[in-house]
Amino acid sequence: MNKTLLSILVATSVTLSAQTQAADVVNVYSARKEALIKPLLDEFSANTGIKVNLITGKADALLKRLQVEGSASPADVFITVDAGRLHRAKAAGVLKPMSLPALEQRIPAALRDADGYWYGLTLRARPIIYAKDRVDINQLSSYEALADSVWDGRLCLRSSQSVYNQSLVAASIDAIGKEATQDWLQSMVENLAKPPAGGDTDQLKAVAAGVCDVTIANTYYLGRLIKSDKAPDQKVANQLAVFWPNQSGAGSLGRGAHFNVSGAGLTKYGKHPQQAQQLLSYLASDVAQRWYADINNEYPVVPGVEISATLASFGTYKMDPIALQILGENNRQAVQLMDRAGWR
Ligand code: FE
Repeated sequence: MNKTLLSILVATSVTLSAQTQAADVVNVYSARKEALIKPLLDEFSANTGIKVNLITGKADALLKRLQVEGSASPADVFITVDAGRLHRAKAAGVLKPMSLPALEQRIPAALRDADGYWYGLTLRARPIIYAKDRVDINQLSSYEALADSVWDGRLCLRSSQSVYNQSLVAASIDAIGKEATQDWLQSMVENLAKPPAGGDTDQLKAVAAGVCDVTIANTYYLGRLIKSDKAPDQKVANQLAVFWPNQSGAGSLGRGAHFNVSGAGLTKYGKHPQQAQQLLSYLASDVAQRWYADINNEYPVVPGVEISATLASFGTYKMDPIALQILGENNRQAVQLMDRAGWR
């Protein structure tokens, strides 16, 4: 081969590979804390050579940012928590539907948007959590039964502004209807030991401190206290136990405990859809599922992936099979009912 041709070939291949590298990027906006996702993204980059630029922030602020940036947004992937919020992103027009057979095969239909706007990536449970020494578990049965007078002055709940509680109520509207949900909320709110304040962890601490005896909280907050190296956290955790509600009973009463997801979608104006799809596929892989769920004491969305010992200690449960996009669709009604019931 003559030298000139060879040098042209070498020069061309150098230019091409430089171009490929420049395009091998995916930009992620994540409402999850960096520690809960960064190691996975690093692993993805190491496996694929695709560089991941991560921007983290509060869920509502990131959604606003996507809306304001519009077509100028550099974001390719939006990661956030709660089907209610994922639905908000879909409704705000910042996501782009995608049909990826690999993802659809792995993630159960109820845990993703039917039109492919978002996919659940970790599963979180929101059961009843109670004080072991003060609650007779024979008196616990369902979310609805927290409205019984036996819980008068013994219940703590987080604010109705929490999307977690809005989603719980949205699921109830689907299961028992608007009127029965309104009655449930009305009576349950009357049982509150104190006005709602703080996050899920604050409710757990209030139960442990004897301010109240029962609450509703996501299990990963209890998992965090169990795994904490701080003695006061462990002391709180030791006083608490998980009760899986709505496990039996006729019809909707036996629908199963309330679950939700954290998840992700492709952004409408993303410039790297190929790389973004590769990233989502990776996050649904067995290895990623196990790590991603474990790091925040959540459950994998992919059936059959092993769960942590902490989660296993919470026992087995039946899950409400509701399609989670309904949580988003019923959100507005849920907020109205909570407001009407005086749930602050
Ligand atoms: Fe949370």
